[in-house]
Amino acid sequence: MPDQAGTDSKAGIDRRSLFEAISRVSLGLAATAAIAEQVKAAPAEETKADELEDFKYDIDSEKGWVGPGGSAKEATVKQLPVSQSIAGVSMKLDPGAIRELHWHALAAEWAYVLTGRCRTTVITPNGQAEVDDFEEGDTWYFPRGHGHAIQNTGPGECHFLLGFDNGHFSEFGTFSITDWIARTPRNVLARNLNLPESAFGQMPQKELYIGPGKVPPAVEDIRNADLQPSQSAHKFRIGKMPPRVFAGGEERIVTQNEFPIQTTLTAVRMDLKPGALREMHWHPHADEWQFFVKGRGRVTIFGSHGRVKTEEFGPGHVAFIKQGYGHFIEQVGDEPTRILILFNSGLYQEISLTNWLGGNPNSLLTTNFGLNQDMLDRLPKKEVGILGKRS
Ligand code: MN
Ligand code: MN
Repeated sequence: MPDQAGTDSKAGIDRRSLFEAISRVSLGLAATAAIAEQVKAAPAEETKADELEDFKYDIDSEKGWVGPGGSAKEATVKQLPVSQSIAGVSMKLDPGAIRELHWHALAAEWAYVLTGRCRTTVITPNGQAEVDDFEEGDTWYFPRGHGHAIQNTGPGECHFLLGFDNGHFSEFGTFSITDWIARTPRNVLARNLNLPESAFGQMPQKELYIGPGKVPPAVEDIRNADLQPSQSAHKFRIGKMPPRVFAGGEERIVTQNEFPIQTTLTAVRMDLKPGALREMHWHPHADEWQFFVKGRGRVTIFGSHGRVKTEEFGPGHVAFIKQGYGHFIEQVGDEPTRILILFNSGLYQEISLTNWLGGNPNSLLTTNFGLNQDMLDRLPKKEVGILGKRS
C-alpha cells in the first residue's frame, strides 16, 4: 500500500501533466486558469489507471539480421509491446542482392522506398503476376499470403521501410522458398519440379533470406508469357500524388480509395516545416504507427485518466499511438521533418480538436470552459491541420 505522501505526489504529477496538456489548446490565460481551478477541485481518482505504455522504439538500436547482400532490423511486439497491430522493418539490399521468394502467412506487406531502386515480383491466388520497378517515394502493397520477391536493380544501395498489418508478425519467421525446398524429400522435388535429385544438392540447404546477386537487365520477361498480368496494381507512387497543403507542411494520404489493393492499411507521408504543429486530433477507427525518416519531432499522447506522455523522435525512431488516443506532433529543429505513417485500416478517419469545437454552440463552450465572447471569437471553427511556425 503506498504511503500517503507518495500518493499525493503522484496525483500532483498527474494534475500538472493534465494542466500542461490543456494549456496547449491555447485558449488564453484566463480560461486556462479557470480550468486549473477545476482540475484542483476535481476529486482524486478512485481507481488508479495503468501508466501509459512506452510508445517509442529506435529501430537502429538492435543489430538485426546482417549477412551477404544486405540487412534487416525490425520493430514488432517483441521490441515495442504496445504495437500489437502494426510491425515495421528497415531493410537494405546491396546492388543485385535479393530478398528471396517468400510469403507471409500472418500479414500483408506495405513498403516505402527510402533510397535507391528495386524491383518486385508478386503472384496472386488467381494466377496473375506483376513485376514492378520502384524508386524513392514509391510504395507497394502485397496482400497477406501472396508470394513475392525483391531485388535491388542498382546502382547504389536500396533502403526501404516495410510495414505489416500485424504487430506479432516477424520478418525473421516468413515462409521462404529455400527453407521449404531444403526440407522437402528430394524424390518429391524431382517429381514436382522435373529436375534430377542431384540438382537439389546445389541449392541452398537452409533458408537464404537475403542473398547477393547480379544487377538484372533493365527489362526482363517473366518465364511464362501466357500468365495473366495483374489486374490490380501493387504499386502506388505516394511521392508523386498531390498533397494536402497547410501553413506548416504537407500530408499525402493513401487509402484503399486511391490504392484499391491496399485494403488493410492507410499510408501517410507527412512533411513538417521547422516550427510546425500537427494539430491535436485522434483517429476513432485505427492505431497509428509512425516512422521518422528525417528531422525531429515531439509526439504527445493523451490516454484519458489524466495520463499524457511526450517523447522526442528522430530518424529511425518508431512511434505507436493506440486507437482513439488524443495526440499532436511538434516539429523540432531547423531541418524539415518527414514521417511515414500507417493506420491499420484501409480507410482514413480523423477528428481534430478544432473541427469538434466548430461543431458546438458557443453557449456550450462557455459553460464547458468558462470562455467569454472575445475568446470564443478567436477559437478556430474548422480543422487547421498543420500549423505554421509561431511568428
Ligand atoms: Mn515480404
Ligand atoms: Mn494522427
